[in-house]
Amino acid sequence: MAVPKSKVTRSRRGLRRSHHALGPSNPNECPNCGELRRPHHVCGACGHYDGREVVSTAEEIDLDDEAA
Ligand SMILES: [Zn+2]
Repeated sequence: MAVPKSKVTRSRRGLRRSHHALGPSNPNECPNCGELRRPHHVCGACGHYDGREVVSTAEEIDLDDEAA
């Protein structure tokens, strides 16, 4: 196993990590409900993608009526 020859100081470690910051996300508006969503992802608010509903939303399933 390769072993580091000398200690990496806090300064050198920090300089290396100065390039590790994450960039900002790039949200788009959902064409169906207008909520912000990630590009190429199903909308988390309405479950629509590419003009149709692909994931049913929790509001449409009413569990209380089935239990009664
Ligand atoms: Zn939506």
